[in-house]
Amino acid sequence: MHVMELPRRVVVGTEIISRVSEVIKELELGPKALVISGPNVKAVLEKNLSSALANSGFVCQWELVGASTFQEVERVAQIAHKIGAEFLVGVGGGKSIDIAKLASFESKMPFVSIPTSASHDGISSPFGSVKGMGRPYSIIAKPPIAIVADISVISRAPKHLLISGCGDLLSKKTAVRDWEIAHEKTGEYFGRYSANLAMLSANLVMDNAKAIGSMEKESFSVVVEALISSGVAAGIAGSSRPCSGSEHLFSHAMDIVAPGKGMHGEKCGMGTIMMAKLQGIDYQGIREALETIGAPTKATQIGATKEEIVKALVLARTIRKERYTILDEVKLTEGSASELAQAARVI
Ligand SMILES: [Zn+2]
Repeated sequence: MHVMELPRRVVVGTEIISRVSEVIKELELGPKALVISGPNVKAVLEKNLSSALANSGFVCQWELVGASTFQEVERVAQIAHKIGAEFLVGVGGGKSIDIAKLASFESKMPFVSIPTSASHDGISSPFGSVKGMGRPYSIIAKPPIAIVADISVISRAPKHLLISGCGDLLSKKTAVRDWEIAHEKTGEYFGRYSANLAMLSANLVMDNAKAIGSMEKESFSVVVEALISSGVAAGIAGSSRPCSGSEHLFSHAMDIVAPGKGMHGEKCGMGTIMMAKLQGIDYQGIREALETIGAPTKATQIGATKEEIVKALVLARTIRKERYTILDEVKLTEGSASELAQAARVI
């Protein structure tokens, strides 16, 4: 049996934040909602969003969320229960969306994703990650019932968030190859459609690297749409396989070895160059695309040391043992990891 979990409605456009209520109304979720975000997003969007929701008959409570932790997920789920919310709305970048996603999964109610930046594919995927889950990678929850991506809001976010999103998208190149390798070696299920969809998202970034690097207006919708389809690819696959391979294992290992250095997508992008080299695919093309976009391709650009990169490369294979990747084919030692990072010009 293969189950696909997909969003019911995806709306992308400019100046559409005040139309969120129309989108939600059509879904017939009920009138009571808990909206969650960080303080900066609340300051910018609350007035518009709250009045639009109130005018359409919704009763909303806006709750600020703090650190991206499991306790915060529990707290939000409890508040949602206490106020009798019928659905959750997560407004923000990674943190608020992840907390809304996991809290809605726990309290068995739908959630609407309103991304304010294009920094990773969690804006549409069924996968969420917070600290305190006992593992450094994402767990499966449910995809948002609706995604409302306002490009005029997203294009005002700092450039490094868009760059990070591009790193997360390019990583589908090595993730899909890892999935193919696992299928060949272990007989693991492989879904060609979701693999192609994820690859399409990565290729969109490759083909539009120049426009994204100079932040041309259209590039925001290209990246946002690619991130949404990439998250949807995971929903179709029923696992994060098409979106997350050895390059993500490297990024998760960096979270442990050098916490706080570099964003998720930045680390994934650097991991993609190195894993592509190991897999024997065009790693130079990937590095050139990242450079054109303005993404970090060298350890020093995210403040990491050579030792940290090597340590993370060796550690990556142990992060998620059931996920077969190129790192199970080429078992890196400190020596070979250092050679790989140098050859890929990451260190
Ligand atoms: Zn990712």
